[in-house]
Amino acid sequence: MKRFLMVLSILSLMICGCHKSVNPVKEDVNVNYESGEDKKMMLVYPTLNAPLLDEQLKALSEELNQEFAAIDGDCEFNMSYRLNHNDDFISLMVKILRGDKEEVKTFLSNGDGSQSYTFEDAFDAKQIKSLAQKIDERLRQSDETAGSSIDYKMAVMPKAENFQNFYLDQDTITFYFDNFADQQIHEAVFTYEELKDFTKLENSNPVYLTYDEILYEPTKIIDPNKPMVALTFDDGPNKYTEQLLDALKEYNCSATFFVLGSMVEKFPQALQRMVLEGNEIGNHTMDHRQLTKLSEKEIIKEVEDTQQAIESIVHIYPKLVRPPYGSKNDTVSRILDYDLILWDLDTRDWASKDTQKIIEVTLNNVRDKDIILMHDIYPTSVQAAIELIPLLQERGYQLVTVSELLLYR
Ligand code: ZN
Repeated sequence: MKRFLMVLSILSLMICGCHKSVNPVKEDVNVNYESGEDKKMMLVYPTLNAPLLDEQLKALSEELNQEFAAIDGDCEFNMSYRLNHNDDFISLMVKILRGDKEEVKTFLSNGDGSQSYTFEDAFDAKQIKSLAQKIDERLRQSDETAGSSIDYKMAVMPKAENFQNFYLDQDTITFYFDNFADQQIHEAVFTYEELKDFTKLENSNPVYLTYDEILYEPTKIIDPNKPMVALTFDDGPNKYTEQLLDALKEYNCSATFFVLGSMVEKFPQALQRMVLEGNEIGNHTMDHRQLTKLSEKEIIKEVEDTQQAIESIVHIYPKLVRPPYGSKNDTVSRILDYDLILWDLDTRDWASKDTQKIIEVTLNNVRDKDIILMHDIYPTSVQAAIELIPLLQERGYQLVTVSELLLYR
């Protein structure tokens, strides 16, 4: 990154005339979730303590909420993001699905988000012709449908405005395109090394906690003759997850976390604790898209990218997949070589957001060997679970993981 930092430092010097220290970005994850019979929505976006970006993201989510509310009948809305930030820059990519139309927006700014950067700040505009050629080749490699159409040719012409949608990950630079006739997002992914002739950007070091060995997993004794249930938590991890882990540890019991691939690297410690403390991690896909509406290739990507994200942190590959919204069909079942896990008892915690109600629904309906659905992204759900753990144990239920439950079911 050193050379890029120099460029950015010069830029910021020119702009504010002094080299001020930046406010560290604080990433908070917002979730808007709706799961109706026909209408399904999952909007995940960050608040970064960077006013320019935060305002744009909030406006975008409000726009999507309103548009979603106005639609009658079958539709799916989705918003997901990738973020890479350090003291010197914030790179953000937001993917949006409105019904059938996919869009992508990217943002690049200095470290506190007060100054935006464009393609021209990050790449050498004089080299744009050969860069465009490289992008064209890469798009054709990964996507056999790319090629001869007018919209495709227009989109990869060597003009700076065509390449404003790019995202700087730790290891890769990705250019995004959402203006081809198929209304899908297409991406051209490069290593920093591959683009070294076109940019002064260099890759930064990964920020994961080091985690080489899983040293300890508590042994639990399960009595198959006694009742048992599996608490399951979807859509995390999030900032409340560790409180829940504290309670599970205190009462010496386990749960299963169906995590989103897009979330795991934000909460590596929660993920590590899940494994170390004897809980199970399941795969809830990368971006929470309804799998029944995706192509086979996309379904596999949603699941396998998540497997890789989890493996990179805790060195395990989950055996269980929970399809978002519980939506599956023959195609999904056929191509995914995992146990697809739904649930027996839906607490509808995302709808009520009411701790007492969640506790009541659970206690009034729970039966032996139930898989219980909750979401660890809401403080009300986590509080309900913390209170439910001893209440269920008092009623004689052992709290086990889904894989443990399946052994006796
Ligand atoms: Zn979910």
